Amino acid sequence: MKIAVLPGDGIGPEIVAEAVKVLDALKLNLELQSAPVGGAAYEASGHPLPPATLALAQASDAILFGAVGDWKYDTLERALRPEQAILGLRKALGLFANFRPAICYKELTHASSLKPELVSGLDILIIRELTGDIYFGQPRGRRSAPDGHFPGAEEAFDTMRYSRPEIERIGHVAFQAAQKRSKRVTSVDKANVLETFQLWKDVMTEVGKQYPDVQLDHMYVDNAAMQLVKEPKRFDVVVTGNMFGDILSDEASMLTGSIGMLPSASLNDKKQGLYEPSHGSAPDIAGKGVANPLATILSAAMMLRFSLGQEAAALKIEAAVQKVLAQGLRTPDIYSEGTTKVGTQQMGDAVVAAL
Ligand code: NAD
Repeated sequence: MKIAVLPGDGIGPEIVAEAVKVLDALKLNLELQSAPVGGAAYEASGHPLPPATLALAQASDAILFGAVGDWKYDTLERALRPEQAILGLRKALGLFANFRPAICYKELTHASSLKPELVSGLDILIIRELTGDIYFGQPRGRRSAPDGHFPGAEEAFDTMRYSRPEIERIGHVAFQAAQKRSKRVTSVDKANVLETFQLWKDVMTEVGKQYPDVQLDHMYVDNAAMQLVKEPKRFDVVVTGNMFGDILSDEASMLTGSIGMLPSASLNDKKQGLYEPSHGSAPDIAGKGVANPLATILSAAMMLRFSLGQEAAALKIEAAVQKVLAQGLRTPDIYSEGTTKVGTQQMGDAVVAAL
């Protein structure tokens, strides 16, 4: 089992080191190989996703990714910015299915901005289509408007598009995920206004017929945004397009208290996957030893489950994380009075000890 370890920038190397420590402690037969990515790769070789890093990722069963980015690269041309490394990996590996669980651990209920009774026991899985939609649709650009309200004025445009096969494959991923959970899927669309999402809704309904054991309902994205803060526990699996998923999954992450707790997985049709925390490189706390490594450690658990077929090991990591939370250990982002504040490495060590 070959794993490409891409720590990246900011807190990336700190949190990935803790996840690697946890993987090592499991004594599985894993072959880990590291490579630079993002700003670190740009500094070393002039590109955020150098050919050697991409080749390593392509030849691996899974990628354990930290985070990329720093404000100092904001003035670089778009193609050389650290974030392009993630887009490049998604595209090159065809990582179309993004899994973002939002779980509210009972020990952290108070850390949510919502009332405890609304989030206690929350366990939602948002499945976001990751390689289509308005983020990738062509044509896109800026030009002088040929028509419209202000002909000749500067305008910008993007194209929202989805093909039937793209919707079908993410639909199957969602229904199959729901079969392993409480057998409910909510497909989020904007079919009342957009042709793209009328097709989305039609195809989801057709795919749903192949899964009679799973209950499917449809919800407009504006209502879904509202329901996520009004009654989040009504959801189980939520499936949606790239842009709506981007927004809703960040909204859902905040229900759980800290983004430092949330793992994610992006998979292709061969179950090869990129596993990373849902947060960014947090340059504001990089190098201080205070970043929460649990999202990355939980991403490693998802990697064992989805790409490496090691369910038992994944469960062990998740149980160990529960245990350290129950012991009262907290990094500053989830700290509250009466608990014990620890740093990044201490948290990683505690998870290893709990294992
Ligand atoms: P961010 O997620 O890096 O940070 C937002 C806030 O959350 C900060 O206050 C940060 O300190 C805190 N935070 C994040 N992760 C934490 C952790 N593990 N423990 C404790 N606190 C944590 O988002 P941002 O500040 O908007 O972006 C910073 C950089 O990260 C930018 O360059 C951005 O482009 C990049 N980014 C990268 C990814 C990625 O690599 N997938 C995702 C989002 C943002």
